[in-house]
Amino acid sequence: MKILAFDIGGTEIKYAFCDENFNLTEKKSIPTNAHEGGKRIIERVVEIIKNCDGIDRIGISTAGQVNSIKGEIVYATDSIPGYTGTKIKEIIEAETGIPTAVENDVNSAAIGEAAFGAAKDCDSFICLTYGTGIGGAIYLDNKLFTGNSFSAGEFGHIVTHAGGRSCTCGGCGCYEAYASAGALVRDVAEKTGREMNGREIFENFDDPEIRFVIDSWIDEIVIGLKGLVYIFNPSLIVAGGGIMNEAYITEKINERLQTELMASFRKVKVVKALMGNDANKLGAAYLASKL
Ligand SMILES: [Zn+2]
Repeated sequence: MKILAFDIGGTEIKYAFCDENFNLTEKKSIPTNAHEGGKRIIERVVEIIKNCDGIDRIGISTAGQVNSIKGEIVYATDSIPGYTGTKIKEIIEAETGIPTAVENDVNSAAIGEAAFGAAKDCDSFICLTYGTGIGGAIYLDNKLFTGNSFSAGEFGHIVTHAGGRSCTCGGCGCYEAYASAGALVRDVAEKTGREMNGREIFENFDDPEIRFVIDSWIDEIVIGLKGLVYIFNPSLIVAGGGIMNEAYITEKINERLQTELMASFRKVKVVKALMGNDANKLGAAYLASKL
């Protein structure tokens, strides 16, 4: 079976072929040009598919909240104008005749990690990605839990600070305003006056001022995770996002959880995601292979 897998994000559309052993080949990307709107994005995806021969299935991982049964966007922010309501599956299948699976990007990543990565052999886990914001996915008893309107797992918008910092969701005090990689970058700039990206921050790990900000940021990560552990009682938490390549973070989180959680919850382990940028495409391809 030959699958064409897409990962539609706010800045890039990445795609690759995927064979029956789930090896990704011929990885490519094009700019999303999000300002052209959701309709145009899907037209360009259709053009790419029509230029490929012998495709049996299409797998699509995309930004936005997705009704994975109908394959349409339930809600997307203005980062992709007019994307809300886009019937991705219907459009692609009508234009190409190829069966198509569509899933939200963090959910796709969770599927990718469950099938091939950090959560292989784990039937229940939660997944969080720490980037500009914080995304989440809930995988219970070998399947995604998607909630009433396909939007479950928005862990970034759990309130951890009543009346705190304002958030992109319109609320304030949200977890992602304190614990995302973006929040770390902002904290370092505010408290040290130095503008650094995540990698540069960790290059200055031995600077006591920087280390203090990093440790305070990890406190914020732990606050949210403790709440989630008490809700889900998972055996595994998969932490994604480039920043998690810094082993210090997961080491410190595990250390904290092992001492601070009620004893019966301490079996939980936090591990970094293993599939990196491929997780979304692999998850989408995996879902497509099951059609
Ligand atoms: Zn929020």
